[in-house]
Amino acid sequence: MELEILIYAIGGLAALSGALGFGYYSFKKKTPSKTTSLSSSPRKDYRSLEDALKKTKEGFWGKLSNTLAGKDSISKKEIDDIEEALYTSDLGPKTVDHLITRVGSIIEEKSSTIQTLHQSLKEEINKIFSSVNTDSQQLKTNGSTTVWMVVGVNGAGKTTTIGKLASQQVALGKRVLIAAGDTFRAAADEQLKVWATRAEVEIFSPEGIKDPSSVACVSIKKGESKDFDIVIIDTAGRLHTQKNLMEELKKMKRVMEKAMPSAPHETLLVLDANSGQNALMQTEQFHSALDVTGVILTKMDGSAKGGVAVGIACEHKLPIKMIGVGEKIEDLRPFNSVEFVDSIL
Ligand code: GDP
Ligand code: MG
Repeated sequence: MELEILIYAIGGLAALSGALGFGYYSFKKKTPSKTTSLSSSPRKDYRSLEDALKKTKEGFWGKLSNTLAGKDSISKKEIDDIEEALYTSDLGPKTVDHLITRVGSIIEEKSSTIQTLHQSLKEEINKIFSSVNTDSQQLKTNGSTTVWMVVGVNGAGKTTTIGKLASQQVALGKRVLIAAGDTFRAAADEQLKVWATRAEVEIFSPEGIKDPSSVACVSIKKGESKDFDIVIIDTAGRLHTQKNLMEELKKMKRVMEKAMPSAPHETLLVLDANSGQNALMQTEQFHSALDVTGVILTKMDGSAKGGVAVGIACEHKLPIKMIGVGEKIEDLRPFNSVEFVDSIL
């Protein structure tokens, strides 16, 4: 009996210290640790990728398997049905054409089973992702101060993503400065300040400067002179169709190049996965104006339209560098295309 009590007491103490230890580590975000590295192994507190992509899977393979329910083999008629299902799956028409041509001929050549369809779709989508230069998958850094410019329409998740990115870099031991380059939206700098506090990084948000290009220029100069490793520059959103915005962003980029000839080292386009095929149009617009170097796809949690990632890779040959899987600071993951394809198919 006494022994039993002793065992319970030890067990209780162990549980308590475990809980305290966990609390300490989750509070002490700054500690560089394996779990906060940029490797693709998920952090413990991340929901699994498969979990986050559940709706995308339902919207993608779910649709296809419904189309094919009860059929043993696939003929021309089924291929047409698949094509139709794919057209409504946010991949974009160009990507669907590409896939149907490939998959159709594989099915004709080999066997016409659902397994072959599943396998060949998987292979072809993996090929699309690997046709995008994989060296560009990692966020580029510079020997000294690195500059990342973050662009995208209003509400896409730019400011939130900057907070998450800053926090990850801090965890890697980097000194980060974030610049409030969205001088257009009321209270945009307040929101960025909240993220700066959360990520424990410095913010450059001068009261007197209302010109975003000046904010960009001065923040780069400050980043260089004060030895920051990374300067992340927020920008205004508005509508991608608005010509003024594109002109303003182009000017901002030119000014950055003047301030530091190699800057920006990344021009990251933030896209809301829920915007589906509209995200492809946004990519077109931003890429042609700014030579985007990579995409961050946010709100993959709960979106059924994550399939747009395939369209971005196929149509625009741009790498998806990261995905947002929630609103919390830790909800940003590196994009691993193989994991992604496995999760949606
Ligand atoms: P911005 O206008 O582009 O700067 O967008 P914000 O950063 O202000 O984000 C707009 C909204 O999207 C906010 O409510 C964020 O919390 C939310 N958000 C951003 N990223 C994610 C994500 O990955 N998942 C979810 N669920 N919400 C997100
Ligand atoms: Mg913002």
